[in-house]
Amino acid sequence: MRKNIPRDYKAYVRQKLGALTPIFAKASVGDFASDVGIPDEHDEFMGLYVGVQKMIVVIRKQIVQLSHESATKTEFLMLAAHQLRTPLTAIRWSLETLLEEYKAKLPKDIKERITEIYRSSLQMIELINDLLNITQFERGEPETTFRLVDPLDITRRVFDEAILFAKEKAVTLKNIVCKNEIPKIMTDPKYLHEAISNLVSNAIKYNKTGGSVCIELEHMNHRKVTLCIKDTGIGIPKKERKKIFTRFFRGTHAALKEPEGTGLGLFFVKAFVESTGGRIWFECEENKETRFYLELLVVPKKHTGVSWSGQNIIHGVNSIHEKSPHH
Ligand code: ADP
Repeated sequence: MRKNIPRDYKAYVRQKLGALTPIFAKASVGDFASDVGIPDEHDEFMGLYVGVQKMIVVIRKQIVQLSHESATKTEFLMLAAHQLRTPLTAIRWSLETLLEEYKAKLPKDIKERITEIYRSSLQMIELINDLLNITQFERGEPETTFRLVDPLDITRRVFDEAILFAKEKAVTLKNIVCKNEIPKIMTDPKYLHEAISNLVSNAIKYNKTGGSVCIELEHMNHRKVTLCIKDTGIGIPKKERKKIFTRFFRGTHAALKEPEGTGLGLFFVKAFVESTGGRIWFECEENKETRFYLELLVVPKKHTGVSWSGQNIIHGVNSIHEKSPHH
């Protein structure tokens, strides 16, 4: 044994390596912010300390580089998505007009082809919207513009926009029922529209031929408005229910019925609703009915404490028991 090595070698090594323990503990959870204090003594451990410090510096550089690349990619993705959405929306409206106005005049095969293109344009718009929304929420900086919004108005608009799609799927859009007076709520109208639209589109897509969709709105405890989107569709298998709000998740039956889909819709709806202090959940009886509930705060958490007139909230009260969305 060499002379300068102490007898209690274990304790000696422990003491020598002790300073590295917190460094490794932090690194194991992705924190590379701390530097390794290089010991003064030039012994056999010196090389190890220097090596770990070099490694940490390299990792830090790579993290910075990766985050720049990732930010650039996200910027690019968002720009491309924005640019694509405008012409696609124009295509969608033109096809919709064509199909509605020339319904009787168009030969059957042409009509089928136009319907096919129309369906593809809808899918692309849905994908682009999901991508844009999710990217914004993931960056923690959704461009929200909160204002007083009438949830009933938005629900009606979503139903109106879904008429053609529902017709195509042989699904009836039934009633929008207000169980009591529905107040205006403070929220972002664009995202709320997107959220309800996602739920209604799912209720149509995962329905059965001849099935129906209806929506109930209720004002609860003066603090919340709950929307229930009810369909008579395929439902969600028990073993898949836990994963339903996970990014990219698509149910097995759902994917068979509707091969095109992103699995991003519910992930976005949950991100939006929860960001305002609201909730989303569902109840389901397989092959019978599915109910998705959206609970929205009249004054979202984000805005609690902001001074504004409570009267405003009461103002937008709607009539009770709205029967059809189309009148
Ligand atoms: P996508 O519709 O593109 O698959 P979503 O995130 O909107 O993505 O939905 C995720 C999954 O949740 C769907 O693939 C489907 O399995 C299930 N799902 C959502 N809504 C319903 C519904 N109303 N009825 C049955 N299953 C549904």
